[in-house]
Amino acid sequence: MATLPGQLSPTPRLLLGPGPSDAHPRVLSVMSTPLLGHLDPQFLEIMTETQTMLREVFRTKNQLTFPVSATGMAGMETCLVNLIEPGDPVTVCCIGYFGTRMIDVAGRTGCNLTVKHKPWGDVFTLDELRDILKETRPKVLALVHAETSTGALQDISEVGKLCHEYDALLVTDCVTSLGCTPVELDAWEVDAAFSCSQKGLSCPPGMSPISFSPRAVDKLKSRKTKVQSWYLDLTSIQSYWGGDRAYHHTAPITMIYALREGLRLVLEEGLEARWARHVRNHKALKAGLEALGLEYIAAEAHRLPQLNAVKIPAGIDDVAGRKKLLTEFGIEIGGGLGDFKGKAWRIGIMGYNSRPICVLSVLAAMEHVLR
Ligand code: PLP
Repeated sequence: MATLPGQLSPTPRLLLGPGPSDAHPRVLSVMSTPLLGHLDPQFLEIMTETQTMLREVFRTKNQLTFPVSATGMAGMETCLVNLIEPGDPVTVCCIGYFGTRMIDVAGRTGCNLTVKHKPWGDVFTLDELRDILKETRPKVLALVHAETSTGALQDISEVGKLCHEYDALLVTDCVTSLGCTPVELDAWEVDAAFSCSQKGLSCPPGMSPISFSPRAVDKLKSRKTKVQSWYLDLTSIQSYWGGDRAYHHTAPITMIYALREGLRLVLEEGLEARWARHVRNHKALKAGLEALGLEYIAAEAHRLPQLNAVKIPAGIDDVAGRKKLLTEFGIEIGGGLGDFKGKAWRIGIMGYNSRPICVLSVLAAMEHVLR
């Protein structure tokens, strides 16, 4: 190499897209502390603390609760490949782009897959889900709780109970909900849930917290076939994150420091206070966006406070608008995915970034861009 690249010095940005959001300064600070070995007694204690806090944040007593060493998609894959065997009837209820990811992941397991769609921006009602369960009789029903592509919140509070009436397990994607809006795994009878580190938990991307209910663990134990993924096979990872702490893979030490601090921040603030903060800042952002003439994609009755997906007004260029926000104001927002490519902007005010200064900054910059 003729000349070495210079020392890394990224331009500061305000990350107000669908994720990653900015990591909390306290999280960044613990990430520069010395490494421990992944079997060091001190690190094993850190793992236990992280799991204990994760259970509180997921509102569960599920023993099998830990962060998968990879991003949210690995959490999705872990939940689906561990609970599905070839030939199993499985139903995915899709309300947007991340629902299509579930279809793809579940489809690769060789299951007998049924897919039900709602128009993007919409959600399923409990009656619709009951009819789907009656008709398809799945062993697993999968849906996204907070659909990041549309800003819609799928109410799952009664869905777990309903699934159990039909002998199905409920798998839910909580990637954009955990740490921002209520997630109550035990009260809602969710069997398997996964999330991420880079949104409501104010950490960098790289960890995917998951949790399996005792029902889901029973299904895992009664499998007749091997889990199709070696890395994500919970029957073996369990011994590392379970009692034995037996080597499975080298844990990403620094990311677990980060997650531990992110979870401490959530619990210090209190879940209810945190959810209320997200609603408060959403209301301020919504007032401003509507004053700028922007229209939300999801109806108010099922709208996410932390992920604001709005239609791009006629005459405004998607890419040029976002480029201006980034280069002139240092603010990142997200474009549309799938059906909404070129048609939507997605503004995330999640975790550490759910603050009035973030709301005011993005509104001021957007006013300039839309002028
Ligand atoms: N599910 C949802 C709802 C998401 O928003 C995302 C990412 O934003 C994912 C899954 C995938 O997570 P990751 O990009 O961390 O792998």
